[in-house]
Amino acid sequence: MCLPANYKNPNCIFATMQLLDGKVAAAAIKEKLQHAVNERLLAGKKTPHLAAILVGNNGASETYVASKVKNCAEVGFKSSLIRLPLEVTEAELLAEIALLNQNTAIDGILVQLPLPKHIDDSKIIAAIVPAKDVDGFHAVSVGRMVQGLDSFIPATPYGIMLLLEYFGVATTGKHAVVIGRSNIVGRPMSILLSSHHPQGNCTVTLCHSKTPNLESFTQQADIVVAALGKPGFLTHSMVKPGAVVIDVGITRVTDATKKSGFSIKGDVDFDGVAPKCSWITPVPGGVGLMTIGALLMNTLKAAEGLDSAR
Ligand code: NAD
Repeated sequence: MCLPANYKNPNCIFATMQLLDGKVAAAAIKEKLQHAVNERLLAGKKTPHLAAILVGNNGASETYVASKVKNCAEVGFKSSLIRLPLEVTEAELLAEIALLNQNTAIDGILVQLPLPKHIDDSKIIAAIVPAKDVDGFHAVSVGRMVQGLDSFIPATPYGIMLLLEYFGVATTGKHAVVIGRSNIVGRPMSILLSSHHPQGNCTVTLCHSKTPNLESFTQQADIVVAALGKPGFLTHSMVKPGAVVIDVGITRVTDATKKSGFSIKGDVDFDGVAPKCSWITPVPGGVGLMTIGALLMNTLKAAEGLDSAR
């Protein structure tokens, strides 16, 4: 799935920098998935089917779930969106998950986070049967990933690995600095980049809110993954020339010039950092699109069955 070595991104705006374009890479993943669905149907197998649970009507969550549903349709998957009111109890949500666990028509289950404060996220994640855990947040999935076994990998770090693979970005022997240690992005990202894998084999430093003198780490990094949720945090002076910079951040910032009233900002000051980079992801149009592609890959995997999760 790598591009030829002489590939030059037409969107490249700096002489030495190339864009890790999520639109291009995600389109290639979706094409591959459409093909896989057709093959399954020809072989008499069922259409992969994703169930998404959305609690309440948080604007960002609505947008993410709508995009997941739309992308399922685009690759030929079925999807079911289950909307529950903000006041739903933890017991009611657990009962809904139990039904989906038992429903043989459903291959993958995702519960859109964040959940309201009265619901314990960890209980909900633990209730999803590991064979349908397409978000890859269940302890069984995480354990399998850490051990290098076939597993569902959390969609955002998985999408970043697919992006690096698509553009043929060399990672072996490089020093990667991941900023952020959440269970959904930073921590699994650090594990994947250090793993014995063509897009891994890095020496990884995991930085977080308690890391003193953070720029002393990023300044040494060949690869920086910024996943902290602070718009424009990573600036020009914090990166070394030729670095690969992956911007995971998605923050809605008030913007009176936009019809929506906000614009989306990443964790990287793109204009300042890009001229120093070998590769960089844009926001939007980078990691976000790959996250959805990776979720679809996990859903296909759920339909096909993991080595031993069933
Ligand atoms: P989180 O709030 O769970 O974790 C943030 C992490 O950043 C924490 O581990 C914290 O220690 C670290 N951090 C906070 N301030 C810091 C600082 N000043 N210096 C160093 N580390 C600091 O967030 P998350 O769920 O991991 O998401 C991070 C960002 O990525 C958010 O903007 C989120 O919206 C975005 N996100 C994007 C996608 C995507 O598809 N592009 C997916 C998930 C999350």
